[in-house]
Amino acid sequence: MPVYDIDKSWTLFLDRDGVINVRLIDDYVKTPEEFRFSEGTLEALPILAKLFKNIIIVTNQRGISRELMTEDDLSSVHSAMIRDISRAGGRIDAVYHCPHNSSAGCTCRKPAIGMALMAKEDFPEIDFAKSIMVGDSRSDMSFGENAGMKCVLVSNGEKPYEGCTHPVVGSLLEFAREVSGSHP
Ligand SMILES: [Zn+2]
Repeated sequence: MPVYDIDKSWTLFLDRDGVINVRLIDDYVKTPEEFRFSEGTLEALPILAKLFKNIIIVTNQRGISRELMTEDDLSSVHSAMIRDISRAGGRIDAVYHCPHNSSAGCTCRKPAIGMALMAKEDFPEIDFAKSIMVGDSRSDMSFGENAGMKCVLVSNGEKPYEGCTHPVVGSLLEFAREVSGSHP
């Protein structure tokens, strides 16, 4: 991974499913019980909390528009997630989600950058040139590219998508260790 000159003015954007928690195959995380942290996430976030000014989750959740879950269901999942992260000594400053289906043509579903712009509205100090997007899919990388961020792909041990030009790490914990300069 390249050495980013990170200081406390940088922002970390994180995808949720496949980065923070285990992605369910052909299903959505609808309850806190279905939410399972990926290995190392709760260890990674306290490291990242020390490095970054803001840590922001941006997540596509079209299960809402498909009526497989409600906004309230998603809120419960995120409350429990943030509680557990805080208990472990980590921090999430904001979570933005796109509830729309891919056919809706909204401006917030990644790879569109609506959620980055919402974050910038709430945290005006955010500088996309001093932001890193960490995600597990091509659309996450396109989101970061479209907003002018640095991008890092989490592979979860799988082959990166065809033509990926971004640095690849196995997990959020690997990213945290590399970016903090600690290689145990
Ligand atoms: Zn949307």
